[in-house]
Amino acid sequence: MINNALELLKKYYGFESFRNGQEEVIHNILTHKDVLAIMPTGGGKSICYQIPAMMMEGTTIVISPLISLMKDQVDTLKQLNIPSAFINSSLSLSELRRIIHEAENNKYKLIYVAPERLENENFIELIKNIKISMIAVDEAHCVSQWGHDFRPSYLKIKNLRGSGQNLIISSFTATATPSVKEDIINLIGLKNHFEITTGFDRENLTFNVLRADKKLSYILKYVEENKNKQGIIYCLTRKATEEVCNKLVSSGFNAVKYHAGLSDMERNKNQDEFLYDNANIIVATNAFGMGIDKSDIRYVIHYNMPKNIESYYQEAGRAGRDGEPADCILLFSPSDIVMNNFLIENSGESLDKSKEYEKLREMINYCNTDKCLRKFVISYFDKSYDKENCNNCSNCLSDIESTDITVEAQKILSCIYRTGQRFGMNLVIDVLKGSNNAKIKSLNFNTLSTYGIMKEYSRETLNELISYLVSDGYINITGDKYPTLNILPSGFFTLKGKQKVIIKKVISKKTDKNHDKSAYDKSLFEKLRFKRKEIADSLKIPPFIVFSDASLKDMC
Ligand code: ADP
Ligand code: MG
Repeated sequence: MINNALELLKKYYGFESFRNGQEEVIHNILTHKDVLAIMPTGGGKSICYQIPAMMMEGTTIVISPLISLMKDQVDTLKQLNIPSAFINSSLSLSELRRIIHEAENNKYKLIYVAPERLENENFIELIKNIKISMIAVDEAHCVSQWGHDFRPSYLKIKNLRGSGQNLIISSFTATATPSVKEDIINLIGLKNHFEITTGFDRENLTFNVLRADKKLSYILKYVEENKNKQGIIYCLTRKATEEVCNKLVSSGFNAVKYHAGLSDMERNKNQDEFLYDNANIIVATNAFGMGIDKSDIRYVIHYNMPKNIESYYQEAGRAGRDGEPADCILLFSPSDIVMNNFLIENSGESLDKSKEYEKLREMINYCNTDKCLRKFVISYFDKSYDKENCNNCSNCLSDIESTDITVEAQKILSCIYRTGQRFGMNLVIDVLKGSNNAKIKSLNFNTLSTYGIMKEYSRETLNELISYLVSDGYINITGDKYPTLNILPSGFFTLKGKQKVIIKKVISKKTDKNHDKSAYDKSLFEKLRFKRKEIADSLKIPPFIVFSDASLKDMC
């Protein structure tokens, strides 16, 4: 059986061998089992359902969330001589009828269907005379609210099972934290399924986190040096997308933009420009990219830190699908934290905000860690990953000195909390230093447990520390006339001991012969990476005073 599958792989796709996991998935589908396959972006999930679709009697219905790409996917299949069609809102009623009629006569091996179709009960009725061999659910994480692209229509997939036929369901995703996985199994209704996770590592990708204040100049330099390469630049907002794209275009680069604020026509046009190599850079919000199959993307730059690791890995993973080296660069600045906090705060009621903050915290930790970045990301999905250093990420490739200022931060935050988040920097410093002035006395702040708790620090150092916490999104300053310090969610996480505060600086770059092929300019990279060297140097942090858990609990 699997030999036949291999024959089809060679004959239709021109590939010599299966990639990791493909064979097992195909085998299990062919033995009539439900499947949940968790494979990285670019891992080759499509073939896992396309090949069995060709081998089974009847038609496979593929649920795919991207209407804009269905046509491309089906065109590709047609070019490979695999009979297929799509059903979505772009079809006229007569086209829809024709396709259903042809499908009833067994003309197609695959029909791609937009999930929204399933909302329509007539549709289920309409397809009941088609012999369906399998439902393949692509981007299956869309069924879960814990995923990053929740699509309520995915909840209707279950109904297809009720159509009386003895169907199997195969489901595919690149994202599966345990809660997403559980949702896929329960909400799609997998039964006795075969499950495979092929490992999340994409060895050809180089991960970089750069602390960059001058992000645009970094990007201009990078794209100049990688002029003939294809790349995606992701921005958090439409506004930033416009700005970055305009700057690139006015500097003579062939860039197009993509975000939900553009008309369908312009969006599709820009996407095609990029997919068909007329434009080599696409600047986009996260609206772009799911399901695209462009294998030669050499870099993905994040102009802003995304909201969580799932989104980051999915987006970054669009680079280097062909297995050749590619760069994933995250340009991090503290304002990204502030912006993400804002976006969560203002997101609809349906989201579990505490969960979102928790995920954001992990994302911030990724940007702040001095450990291997690959290890960080992959362990997020797969706790059993045990390689400590990949030697192919910006942390493994530099010697970093990090200073843990978590305890100092906790003291400051707790002082702000204890004084009611109603005062400015000076008064907080007075309390921390244990000043004896009249205001402190009149407010009875000399009785607080945080009074005098940092008396051995100079005012200047405390000032620097607080500024650092402000610029890195732990504290916010509000009010013009009487600026007051307020604690942001990251600050509360720190207070509860769930988030560390670390100042890092690069001491030297390790030279790695194997890495010379990497495309980025290391000296620039180094310069941008830790703009805060000056701050770190000026902090002159004294040895830590050990803070017991109990005293912390008392303070929070
Ligand atoms: P994803 O898992 O992200 O859906 P795709 O199915 O789009 O990935 O496949 C990514 C790329 O890998 C495509 O260009 C595809 O043709 C290629 N590919 C898939 N399987 C193989 C294979 N066995 N050998 C070589 N290339 C493959
Ligand atoms: Mg895919």
